[in-house]
Amino acid sequence: RLPLPAQIYEPLRANSKGVEFGDKAALAALLGERDAAPPPAPARPSAVGKNAARDVLSPIDGAVVGQVTETDPDGARAMMANAASAFPHWNATPVETRAQKLERAADLIEARRGAFIALLQSEAGKTLDDALAEVREAADMCRYYASEARRLIHEVRLPGPTGEDNRLRYSGRGVFVCISPWNFPLAIFTGQVVAALVTGNAAVAKPAEQTPLIAALAVSLLHEAGVPRAALQLAPGAGDVGAALVADPRTAGVVFTGSVEVARHINQSLAARAGAIAPLIAETGGVNAMIVDSTALIEQVVDDVLASAFRSAGQRCSALRLLCLQEEIAPSAIETLIGATKELRIGDPRRLGVHVGPVIDADAKAKLDRYLALQREAGRLLYAGEAPTPGYYVAPYIVRLDRVADLREEVFGPVLHVATWRARDFDALLREIEASGYGLTFGLETRIEERIRDVATRAPAGNVYVNRNMIGAVVGSQPFGGFGLSGTGPKAGGPEYLRRFLRETTVTINT
Ligand code: NAP
Repeated sequence: RLPLPAQIYEPLRANSKGVEFGDKAALAALLGERDAAPPPAPARPSAVGKNAARDVLSPIDGAVVGQVTETDPDGARAMMANAASAFPHWNATPVETRAQKLERAADLIEARRGAFIALLQSEAGKTLDDALAEVREAADMCRYYASEARRLIHEVRLPGPTGEDNRLRYSGRGVFVCISPWNFPLAIFTGQVVAALVTGNAAVAKPAEQTPLIAALAVSLLHEAGVPRAALQLAPGAGDVGAALVADPRTAGVVFTGSVEVARHINQSLAARAGAIAPLIAETGGVNAMIVDSTALIEQVVDDVLASAFRSAGQRCSALRLLCLQEEIAPSAIETLIGATKELRIGDPRRLGVHVGPVIDADAKAKLDRYLALQREAGRLLYAGEAPTPGYYVAPYIVRLDRVADLREEVFGPVLHVATWRARDFDALLREIEASGYGLTFGLETRIEERIRDVATRAPAGNVYVNRNMIGAVVGSQPFGGFGLSGTGPKAGGPEYLRRFLRETTVTINT
């Protein structure tokens, strides 16, 4: 069990300057000599928030993890001005130099993994497995986008008539606004920011309200790696800070991960404001389904379902929400699934052997509890786990659905819905799933090769997984992202991602 960061390096404070550490000796004792050096204090704040510091509370037990001084819409606009003035110089920095800074940041993230794991557990309620995976993913994002930038960003000579020289050039667009959620507070935050930076953009990053400390540490390391302070600014604050950044006429693009509702809001705001027509890269949620037919190996199915539905307390956009079991195998599959779900350990994620940690905060718990009370009243609970108290814990639940169409909203927690289908209705089932309008992840468990080929061709979601779990996309191997209500693309961690951050210019010279 790791101590709370506040116990390690009291006081831990995050603000628009990054993160500040107090007790360096205690930090050294925890992390070992190699990890001991804290990031240098920034010479000068990039923007000053007027607000008082507020406590950041742990979802595990409500303990104070640290403090954040948030900015406000005026502070956010000041950051935009700073970032806009930093853009030309950063954009003119050779791509090789920018890529090397990202690689240095990856090294620093790995070197400070002890601090990140402690924060991911205490601030975001992650289990050790999840925290480790997230640290790796953040470092992977830095290295992958560095190598992608080298591949993509160079002048391309194009064919043309004699006497004409045609060239295609790539550069940054300006200031990118990066808005991220709390459920991958390190990997998604870092991925957005480094994609914007390596392509020559300046970035103003607004982390989720629940997880500003992780974001502040990541920004400190990027600054330490050599990214100029003005070119990367942290804007911790509430939704109105994000809204002010989006509405600013200097915003050249927005990269957003979060709910569909906020994505729509950002889209409208971008369309209505003055200034350039700016692209929005939005990655949102899903009502993710898995179809299991009677040829599937049930032990494998149960393993995959548990990981997909309940790991990270179901707080992954990729998580399985709707399990569709072929009628013939449904009774025994549900019995086995319930038996395995009972074995999951729920509790303090800092304890080894815990499978399901807390949900992020009191609001998330209250929303899930209300939903589950309705399901209970309707007699639809197939399984209800027991959550420990105190803390924001929600145990795994399994809910029976009469029709696939009854689930049209993302339920963001450890709640698995189960429906059954008849062998002859496979196509109709696929159509019903697609009718949700989402298209993020999709699972298929079968040993029928033709069915695998059929589903792979039809691709009912952005990420299709066959005979395995549906979570944990690997950077560079499984580019991640959906379509429809699930997002705009391009896929994060994929070969097309950086192009959306770039401006293309064609230069034609009459020689
Ligand atoms: P959220 O409520 O949409 O918030 C996301 C971010 O947007 C937060 O930083 C939030 O700030 C900010 N925000 C809120 N209102 C805003 C506005 N009007 N203008 C600009 N920014 C605004 O989502 P969340 O609850 O943090 O995250 C969970 C959601 O993210 C789920 O739907 C999940 O499926 C989705 N998700 C998708 C992916 C993917 O790759 N497709 C990955 C992870 C998560 P505050 O924190 O201050 O509200």
